[in-house]
Amino acid sequence: MTTKSILVLGGSYGGTATAHYTLKHIIPKLPSPDSYQVVLVSPSREIIVRPAFPRALIADSYFDQSKLWTNLEDQFKQYGSKFRFVHGVATSLDHEARTVTVTQKTGAEVTVEYHALVIATGSSTPSPLLSLNGGGRDEVKAHWTAFRAALPNAKSIVIAGGGPVGIETAGELGEHLNGRAGFFSSKLVNPKVKITVISKDKDILPVVRPALAQTAEGYLAKVGVEVVKNVGVESVSPAEAGRASDVTVGTEVKLSDGKTLQADLYIPAYGTTPNTSFVAESLRAKDGRVETNPKTLRVDKAGERVYAVGDASNYARPAVHIMMDAIPVLAANLKRDLLIAVGQTPSGDERLLTADEGETQLIPIGRGKGVGAFKGTRLPSFFVWLFKGRDYFVGMSGGMWSGQNWAKET
Ligand SMILES: Cc1cc2nc3c(=O)[nH]c(=O)nc-3n(C[C@H](O)[C@H](O)[C@H](O)COP(=O)(O)OP(=O)(O)OC[C@H]3O[C@@H](n4cnc5c(N)ncnc54)[C@H](O)[C@@H]3O)c2cc1C
Repeated sequence: MTTKSILVLGGSYGGTATAHYTLKHIIPKLPSPDSYQVVLVSPSREIIVRPAFPRALIADSYFDQSKLWTNLEDQFKQYGSKFRFVHGVATSLDHEARTVTVTQKTGAEVTVEYHALVIATGSSTPSPLLSLNGGGRDEVKAHWTAFRAALPNAKSIVIAGGGPVGIETAGELGEHLNGRAGFFSSKLVNPKVKITVISKDKDILPVVRPALAQTAEGYLAKVGVEVVKNVGVESVSPAEAGRASDVTVGTEVKLSDGKTLQADLYIPAYGTTPNTSFVAESLRAKDGRVETNPKTLRVDKAGERVYAVGDASNYARPAVHIMMDAIPVLAANLKRDLLIAVGQTPSGDERLLTADEGETQLIPIGRGKGVGAFKGTRLPSFFVWLFKGRDYFVGMSGGMWSGQNWAKET
């Protein structure tokens, strides 16, 4: 019997969730389930709780490392030979021939034919401190080690980017290096390390209302962080400062208002690049993400049974909670399409997603404070700490990685 591959590219939130869901709820319900196999490709053997990076990068002592990093293959042993892991990176997708070429970590190339394809290759950050960026644990740890070694001698840090990642990183570094001002002080005077956030927008944290952004600025001031708004970073010297080649180099930061800042450490914490270079340009949107039907999660232009989700897809803004709503929709449509492929007529209509793009975001500022909103309702700082700031979801991610969170078909 020929095996039909359901090929999943990416081993993080989108990839692991889709793989578990397919193995638990789709394949067992197809005629001849033994003829299907989920093949998951990832350059990293570990799954990582990416939202925790702003704190995790500073010291190992902040998190239980066995929960921060989880071995991917171990989570799929429960499915036996129905699951196969390929340790490598997808380098080209031929959507006409329905094949993906993968360069394995060993250097060998392999071409995988797919019956169905899920693209969940996510995105990379300019700073290698904040994401796997196509590597694995060793690469990230090497960057963290270098950065941590430079911290005790740093007198000034510039963080470019007023979005949640820049603000969380600034808050964590501020509290770690400077401590927190007392209850009656609105700001930390003469902080040990001068930390500056550069935001090109008039408000930081664009997803939440301006009043929350202002509260965040107040919390940042208490850990010695200054926010400069309405100003962009024009250029940095050396040009590769803060990138993979050097996370610890002293940097001159030229701003759009003509000023220049000198930083002992520079972190570019703005924007992400979708990991989609292996996908034909004709399948990509202008911003580089895979052009995806936002209702069905299908990549309509790629032929039958091709889907995309997560940061690599343009179905919605990049956020884990939006993706968790999208997985059951993608899975329902995948199941439907697989049934049609074997000549069956699925019952009911296809499933459609309405992504919740509203004001939902939690932004811890250091280890005790934070701002946030859930579905348009402002949350007190204590709740932001309770839901996220306490451990940045590290403690509660196990069920997602093991598939326990997907035990029921929803
Ligand atoms: C520092 C930081 C903090 C964040 N905090 C939050 C938060 O608090 N809340 C929230 O909702 N969102 C947060 N986000 C966004 C969130 O992390 C992403 O939306 C989420 O990780 C996207 O998951 P994903 O599975 O699409 O991709 P990713 O998590 O980016 O993972 C992509 C996977 O694909 C692999 N891959 C890459 N290229 C290839 C390839 N060519 N072939 C095969 N595999 C490949 C990668 O190694 C990785 O395993 C944060 C992002 C960052 C950078």
